[in-house]
Amino acid sequence: MIANYHTHTPRCLHAEGTEEAYIQAALEAKMEILGFSDHTPQFYPNGRVSTIRMLPQELPGYVRTLEALRAKYAQKLQIHIGLEAEYYPDLFPELLSFIRDNGVEYLLLGQHWCVNEIGEPYNGRETADEALLARYCHQVADAMQTGLFSYIAHPDILNFVGDAAVYEKHIRFLCREARENRIPLEINLLGMINNKHYPNPVFWRIAGEEGCLTVIGADAHTPRGLIVPEQEGNALQMVKDYDLQLLKKVQLRTIY
Ligand SMILES: [Zn+2]
Ligand SMILES: [Zn+2]
Repeated sequence: MIANYHTHTPRCLHAEGTEEAYIQAALEAKMEILGFSDHTPQFYPNGRVSTIRMLPQELPGYVRTLEALRAKYAQKLQIHIGLEAEYYPDLFPELLSFIRDNGVEYLLLGQHWCVNEIGEPYNGRETADEALLARYCHQVADAMQTGLFSYIAHPDILNFVGDAAVYEKHIRFLCREARENRIPLEINLLGMINNKHYPNPVFWRIAGEEGCLTVIGADAHTPRGLIVPEQEGNALQMVKDYDLQLLKKVQLRTIY
């Protein structure tokens, strides 16, 4: 990998290592481009606070820290400042204006919950509910149509264990939307490391058949998570097996 756009920091409360340690690891891995995309802060109604995200008041420090490191390492590494955000229709407009005001360059979509998160099941939980699968696919499609997301992180996070034909129908819709909108889909290396239900081979077979653009993302929650040659090799094998169109670098869609 010469570029990784999916990198976290300890602000999300479930990652470790300083920003500079991630940069050092990226240099060790001989990367040319490192994008930080920590879990976005999120405003909720009724003062709800997320336990997997930075607080809104931490965003300026996140951006300032990365700007300083970008200047320091300018000769060695191209650093980008992004966030992994959800597309929650009721909450997104306020979030977007806040992150624009704070100098964030780009967004990855990480749709970990549907609707507006509150009261919804985590999308990684096993489900045989077609309605949930359909909602996920449509919500991701709506997100893509905003034109604001540079790529879709772990697009196969929805953990459907029901009828295979049902899965195929809805995922084919999602993949076609990605192709039409020219938005890359991410083969997520952390999923491999943690033996999660993604990357899902069925998903990637369909993505290959639909001619989707593909990117490999480390989803690093530790600096060492950027140096994972074994998983990278597995991902490249998937690219071959499913005839995926791999992008080594992504044209980021800036949000300002
Ligand atoms: Zn995370
Ligand atoms: Zn992530």
